[in-house]
Amino acid sequence: MKCIECGGEYTESTKSHVVDSESLIIIRNVPCLECNQCGDTVYTDTVIRRLDEIIDSLKSFLGEIAVVDYSDNQAA
Ligand SMILES: [Zn+2]
Repeated sequence: MKCIECGGEYTESTKSHVVDSESLIIIRNVPCLECNQCGDTVYTDTVIRRLDEIIDSLKSFLGEIAVVDYSDNQAA
């Protein structure tokens, strides 16, 4: 897969996904593809759906900051 920004190659990586809404939600170790030239990152459809599920499951969370690990939520 080629980067649409610079034409570089994507390689598999992980990153922390941050959602800043009513609460700050940080999901660590999210699998992504990272461009080896410009550092642009993309998620696969599977990962995007999984992130939505994790974020949904944290909607009732009333604290200010939630930090979860992507892999900890696989079975949830
Ligand atoms: Zn790029």
